[in-house]
Amino acid sequence: MIDIQQTAERLEAHLRALTETIGERSVRYPENLDKTADYIRLFYENIGIAVQRDPYDYVDFKVDNVIADISTGAQPSRRYLLGAHYDSVSGTVGADDNASAIAVQLETARGLKALFKQAGLDLTVTFVSFALEEPPAYGTRYMGSRVYAKRARKEQEKIDGMICLEMVGYACYEPGCQKYPFPLGFFGYPKQGNYIGIVSNFKSGKFTQALFNAFQNNPELPVIKTKIPFNGRIVPAVRLSDHASFWDQGFKAVMITDTAFFRNPHYHCPSDTIEKLDYRFMAELVESLLLFFKSHQSEP
Ligand SMILES: [Zn+2]
Repeated sequence: MIDIQQTAERLEAHLRALTETIGERSVRYPENLDKTADYIRLFYENIGIAVQRDPYDYVDFKVDNVIADISTGAQPSRRYLLGAHYDSVSGTVGADDNASAIAVQLETARGLKALFKQAGLDLTVTFVSFALEEPPAYGTRYMGSRVYAKRARKEQEKIDGMICLEMVGYACYEPGCQKYPFPLGFFGYPKQGNYIGIVSNFKSGKFTQALFNAFQNNPELPVIKTKIPFNGRIVPAVRLSDHASFWDQGFKAVMITDTAFFRNPHYHCPSDTIEKLDYRFMAELVESLLLFFKSHQSEP
């Protein structure tokens, strides 16, 4: 559907802008968070997608979620959210965590816009870039996803599924390079980290299956899914991102991930930099996401 090479180059350009031109995107550098929000906003504006910065208070300054919408117009039957946090851990430029996800989010929006022109899709997709996810905001009301999900529940927003992109740029091919949280390692999962993972809770089962089925139509990107009981409270590693904010408000949500520290040894380290990323892997994820959205053809 997309030109993988061209998409890989565009993804790399976003990674350079976010991690080298801007750099660390933590609460230590509010001006960098502001620059990032603006980078995202400008991207959508330039490709002709309606976008807004949605500010909220963080301790003594303001941060912004950035929200963009692509819709077929008249009351589409489905509405999905594609979310990713744009901050990085203090002391890191966060290439995999989580500039990779922002880059995939942006290029998926570009691809979806083109797709809307060709195929009659019965769909709205809202792209939300969350300001804060990492410590010290992690687990507090200052998380961008909590701010969004709380309000969405209060205002009874229609969300048929939330897709959280969390670290999606790292692949490894040596047998044994892929680790698993206890007890999942005993279930015969692959030893190579060449796949993308989908983590869901029980409530999101049907939504996850639809995503999984669509992803399986991309032979270039293997996909593995894991369903976790009790909203992940017994395997805390699977709650480590913005999808959990949506689980907690009763929405269907999944996390799409390269499995973070179970694969990437640079997790939360200053060495989480762009030369470790796999841009073709990321471009294939854009393709898989578009396959999912494309599966929502409107009735002829
Ligand atoms: Zn993260």
